[in-house]
Amino acid sequence: MRYSAWQIFSKAFKPASAWAPIWREPDPKPAYDVIIIGGGGHGLATAYYLARNHGLTNVAVLEKGYLGGGNIGRNTTIVRANYHLDGNTEFYSHSLKLWEGLELDLNYNLMMSQRGIINLAHSDGQMDFYARRGNAIRMQGDDAELLGRDAVRAEYPYLNHDDPRFPIFGGLRQKRAGTARHDAVAWGFARGADMRGVDLIQNCAVTGFRIENGTVRGVETTRGPILAGKVGMAVAGRSTQVADMAGFRLPIETHVLQAFVTEGLNPILPGVVTFGMGHFYISQSDKGGLVFGGELDFYNSYAARGNLPMVEHVCEAGMAMWPAIGKARMLRSWGGLMDMSMDGSPIIDRTPIEGLYFNGGWCYGGFKATPASGHCFAHLIATDSPSPHATKLRMDRFETGHVLDEEGTGAQPNRH
Ligand SMILES: Cc1cc2nc3c(=O)[nH]c(=O)nc-3n(C[C@H](O)[C@H](O)[C@H](O)COP(=O)(O)OP(=O)(O)OC[C@H]3O[C@@H](n4cnc5c(N)ncnc54)[C@H](O)[C@@H]3O)c2cc1C
Repeated sequence: MRYSAWQIFSKAFKPASAWAPIWREPDPKPAYDVIIIGGGGHGLATAYYLARNHGLTNVAVLEKGYLGGGNIGRNTTIVRANYHLDGNTEFYSHSLKLWEGLELDLNYNLMMSQRGIINLAHSDGQMDFYARRGNAIRMQGDDAELLGRDAVRAEYPYLNHDDPRFPIFGGLRQKRAGTARHDAVAWGFARGADMRGVDLIQNCAVTGFRIENGTVRGVETTRGPILAGKVGMAVAGRSTQVADMAGFRLPIETHVLQAFVTEGLNPILPGVVTFGMGHFYISQSDKGGLVFGGELDFYNSYAARGNLPMVEHVCEAGMAMWPAIGKARMLRSWGGLMDMSMDGSPIIDRTPIEGLYFNGGWCYGGFKATPASGHCFAHLIATDSPSPHATKLRMDRFETGHVLDEEGTGAQPNRH
């Protein structure tokens, strides 16, 4: 069914014709052309573009829990294309362009809101760096604007502008950045893939691989073996565990990242703001809650919940940037498993096993990447050649030294 204003209107007058579930619940078939492991944003987007762009519909997405229960439903929903390095700039630029047409393409309301982002600067050095980064973004064809003190103060008068430790010197703005409703993104891609014939199989954990003479033949699952000509991994924080099952190692570590939301408040925060002297980012949801996050919990873990010292650390950064935030009551906090790569940038590539493809290393940034990740991964799986938008997101950059280290912190995943 195509969603439209007419559908809403007509259903109001025909209550008997209820809204149908937006995807089927099929049992797994014995074999598929392509299996995607992981029903998060990236796995579902990959399945969608395999069917939509490459006509591959004998495809299954295998999800160990429920669709959208991983990071895609846990993030702080920030979408932007303000990266600095070749390799990342073209990929995230492609993603933002896909976001801009995605609701029409999927015929699904993703609550995409291009409300803009401002990265605050607190020193002359940081202003210089943002000027450089802004130039790189503009050379890629995206928008970036360097704002002075007065411009930031006019837009966000209540921030801690004259703080003696972290005075606000200005900021870098991207107007086309913003937020989208995270779980709707999973549901929209799921619906689009299901409508084209892809089987979305929930409660089906992959427990091993069938590999013969270095070529993948299928997977073992909690619902029995399933054969496939090609298999794509898109399991985010579980990447290293699933790669272990196939017998290879990844340049990735898993860390916990927490996020927080306050009680609903009247509209006060028009866009997304990031603090430049600590890791803190905040926006206001359409329901009024202030949604914010900060740094990783700094230790490796597969437990999708964090610890109290990081709650304190994040709230301290928030208070330094915007002291009045201390009056808001925090409603909830939660955690997700981040697949932190050694240079902070993602990987979309083949693996040492023929027919097995890898998508991961998304660090903090995989939500904004969702459409381009699916688009490029589907291209790689279908054509066996990298998408022109993702040629530098290769696994072997860690051997050759062509790393994409935006933060310049070296091979220390928790610092990216
Ligand atoms: C708190 C938090 C805040 C964030 N904020 C932002 C943000 O503001 N902007 C941004 O761009 N990014 C953000 N991110 C990062 C972003 O959410 C992730 O990078 C991205 O969602 C990862 O890709 P995914 O959606 O496919 O992952 P997931 O949704 O985690 O999908 C992976 C799926 O694989 C499944 N799986 C794992 N193992 C198996 C198996 N053996 N068999 C079958 N299925 C398996 C899991 O159950 C899971 O559903 C944030 C993340 C967190 C946790």
